[in-house]
Amino acid sequence: MKPVLVVGASVGGSTAANTLAQAGVPVILLERDLSWVKPCGGALPPVAFDEFDIPHRLISRKVRTAEIHSPTERTTAIRVAGLKDRPNDFVAMACREDLDPFLRGRAVQNGAQLIEGKLTDLTVDDDGVTVAYTAKADGSKQSLRVEAVIGADGAYSTVAKLLGLERLPYCTAIQERIALPPSQMERWHDTAALYLGPDVSPDLYAWVFPKEDHVAVGLGAGPGKAKEVRQLLTNLKERVAHDLQGGEIMMEEAYALPIHPRKRMAFDRVMLVGDAAGLVAATSGEGIYWAMKSAQRAAQTLIEHLPDASHAVLRQYERAWWRDYGTMYRFLQWLQKWGYGNARQMEVFTDMCRNNDVQQLTFESYMYKEMTPVPWLAQMRMTGDILGAQIRHYWPRRVFAG
Ligand SMILES: Cc1cc2nc3c(=O)[nH]c(=O)nc-3n(C[C@H](O)[C@H](O)[C@H](O)COP(=O)(O)OP(=O)(O)OC[C@H]3O[C@@H](n4cnc5c(N)ncnc54)[C@H](O)[C@@H]3O)c2cc1C
Repeated sequence: MKPVLVVGASVGGSTAANTLAQAGVPVILLERDLSWVKPCGGALPPVAFDEFDIPHRLISRKVRTAEIHSPTERTTAIRVAGLKDRPNDFVAMACREDLDPFLRGRAVQNGAQLIEGKLTDLTVDDDGVTVAYTAKADGSKQSLRVEAVIGADGAYSTVAKLLGLERLPYCTAIQERIALPPSQMERWHDTAALYLGPDVSPDLYAWVFPKEDHVAVGLGAGPGKAKEVRQLLTNLKERVAHDLQGGEIMMEEAYALPIHPRKRMAFDRVMLVGDAAGLVAATSGEGIYWAMKSAQRAAQTLIEHLPDASHAVLRQYERAWWRDYGTMYRFLQWLQKWGYGNARQMEVFTDMCRNNDVQQLTFESYMYKEMTPVPWLAQMRMTGDILGAQIRHYWPRRVFAG
């Protein structure tokens, strides 16, 4: 059997390659630049470490308090705890320069062949796929013959482009990594903060995520706002200035964040996973777990069916994905529009986050990725609180205007 080619050796690609290699499927992992570090906040649910067998030593910090700052700086501090309050209740903060090489190295150890080169072309025929790439070492043009391709090559996916697919609308996410003196790091010891407001993010949120010796200070902004993100970052740093005193900028990084998933992720002999398929969750901007999960599922589909890699077979990956997660993606897209739609809605969103049931259910589903049925009493309490907040933030102005 010809090998499977995985394009992109980041979190998604390395997970796909490792899953295939462990099952004894010959696999080539093609990465255009092994020294590149993916711009990323590095927030991960603890379940990712169990599910993908990632050692906890790669956790730079465990966050147990999440602060939400409304546009008018009303602050809610939330304990990171799910429904059962378990020791694993935390948000893990990882550095991509540690996580990606670990996942890549493990795939290689298990038998994947790693090539540093940039995919430039692919042609699908009845018997396989012919792939062209440019080798990084000497710039030479090379070609490969493979059974199937998994496109894990991120937001600007070359695989998607070569399939003739349109580029997805994407948010732009930017962040600075700022080294803080130890005394100032104490403020962020086990705390992450989210900032809402059109001044820092018109339609998503801004963040401060702590790592061992620095904080990542960043934000996302919706399609068409790439030119504004630097100014928004300056505004954010002014808002957080007190808690960043004495800090030194280590680096600035930015990249696309695709929060509009592709409906079609499977084709004849080709599948798209992670950011290449636009699988970042709206509202939270979470993409690492979903890249690994989709990559694992795409690889499992191939393991089950190779040498048959026809569209009819690979569609099972796509169908199962939307069956299991379609509701979640649609809900989070709706929530983003509702909660981050304007400054007043952001105030309502902050109030909603004060509700105990909302907190527990949100963290339960984020940390353990299980859809939890919501008891009717909790539903009533949440609805009551949300309606109350909605009225509080809109009613007085109408009365005064009248
Ligand atoms: C600023 C920022 C902050 C973020 N913060 C978080 C966060 O805190 N938590 C979270 O869960 N998600 C976060 N995300 C999203 C997360 O980074 C992505 O969802 C995740 O990295 C997607 O993984 P992936 O493997 O699909 O693609 P990527 O990580 O983008 O990797 C794609 C890989 O493909 C390679 N490649 C591209 N083109 C080619 C080619 N032609 N040939 C060969 N190789 C190629 C690239 O070099 C790269 O290594 C953030 C994103 C940004 C931009």
